[in-house]
Amino acid sequence: MKYSDSIEKSAEYLRQALPLMSRQATALHPVSYAVWYEYVAGNNSSLRASIDDHTQNGAILDEKTTAEIFRKHIAELDEDAARRVSEGFQKIMADMSQSASLAGDQANQFGGVLEKWSEGLAGSQLGTDGGIDVLLQHTRSMQGSIGSLKGRLDESRNEIEQLRREVSQAREDALADGLTGLINRRGFDMALAGCLSAFEAEEQGPSLLMTDIDFFKRVNDNYGHLFGDKVIRAVAQILKDNVKGKDTAARYGGEEFVILLPDTPLEGARHLAERIRTSVEKFRIKRTDKNEAVANITVSLGVTSYRHGESGSDFVARADAALYASKHQGRNRVTVAGTF
Ligand code: GH3
Ligand code: MG
Ligand code: MG
Repeated sequence: MKYSDSIEKSAEYLRQALPLMSRQATALHPVSYAVWYEYVAGNNSSLRASIDDHTQNGAILDEKTTAEIFRKHIAELDEDAARRVSEGFQKIMADMSQSASLAGDQANQFGGVLEKWSEGLAGSQLGTDGGIDVLLQHTRSMQGSIGSLKGRLDESRNEIEQLRREVSQAREDALADGLTGLINRRGFDMALAGCLSAFEAEEQGPSLLMTDIDFFKRVNDNYGHLFGDKVIRAVAQILKDNVKGKDTAARYGGEEFVILLPDTPLEGARHLAERIRTSVEKFRIKRTDKNEAVANITVSLGVTSYRHGESGSDFVARADAALYASKHQGRNRVTVAGTF
C-alpha cells in the first residue's frame, strides 16, 4: 500500500490537514484529502511546491486545481514509478542475458582451442595422460551451465514482459464496461478530468451529451432482462457509430450514457444528439426467440457546453438536468441546457 504511516501519525496528519482542506473552494472528498494528507506528511516535495505556488497571497484551491494536483503529483507518480521499475528490471535482465551469452561464446571458443590442441597432441605423452580430456570435460560442463543460465534469464525476461502486458491489460479492463465495450464511469471521469485540464482558457470548451433510455423498466418487465441487455448493447453501438476522433462515449450507469465532445461547439452537440435520437427511434431490434421486432425504443438526451472555470461535476450536472427536462417534457427528445 502507498501509505504506511501508523494510526497515531496518520491521526496527527488528519488534524493538520482538516483545517487546511476546509479553507479551500473544494468539497471535502477523498481526492482533496489525499492532496492535503500528502502536503502535511511532507514527503512529496513537488506536490508541496505546487500547492505553495497556488496558495501564495492567500489564494485558495478550486476543484479543478485540486484534481489537477492530484493527477499530476499523486496518481501519475505511482504509474510512472511502476513503469520505471519494470523498465529498469527489463534492462538488468537484458544486460545479464547478454553477459551470459558472451561468456557462453568465450567458453565455446576456449573449448574449440582445447579440442584442436588435444588433437595435435594425440599420441604424445601429454595427450595420453588424460589431462586434456579432463579440461575438455570441465569446459563442456561450463558451456552447459552458461547455456542454461542464459535460457533461464531469457525466460524470466519473457515472464516480466508478460506481467507488464497483464498489468496494462488489467488497467484497461478496469476502465471498460463489460456489457457494451464502451468505457465505464471511472474511465469517463478520468477522460473528463484530462480534457478539462488540457484546454486553455481562450479555447472553445468541450460539450457534453447525456442520454438515458426511455421507460427501460418496461422493456425489462415485458421482454426480460436479457433482452434489456441486448437493447443496452444496441444503443451503445449506435453511440459508437456516431462518435469519432477525440470524442469519448461511455456507459455512465445502467441505461444511461454520456459522450464527451472536446472540440464540438454546442450547436454541433445538439445536432449529434438529434441524430442519435432518430437513429435509436428508427432502430428495430429483434427478439431472438420470437423473431419479432420490438419497436418504440427511444432515448431522451440533454446537451450542454463547458463554462470556463466550473468543476467537472457542475458540467455533468447541467447535462443531466437538461436530460431530465427532456424526460419531463415527454421523452424521445433533445434539450439544450439553459433553454428549459
Ligand atoms: P425513464 O424514461 O424515466 O428513464 O424510465 P426508466 O424505466 O428507464 O427508469 P429508470 O431509470 O428508473 O429504470 C432503469 C432500469 O434499468 C432499472 C434497472 O433495473 C434497469 N437496468 C439497469 N442496468 C441494467 C442492465 O445492465 N441490464 C438491464 N437489462 N437492465 C438494467
Ligand atoms: Mg431510463
Ligand atoms: Mg436511468
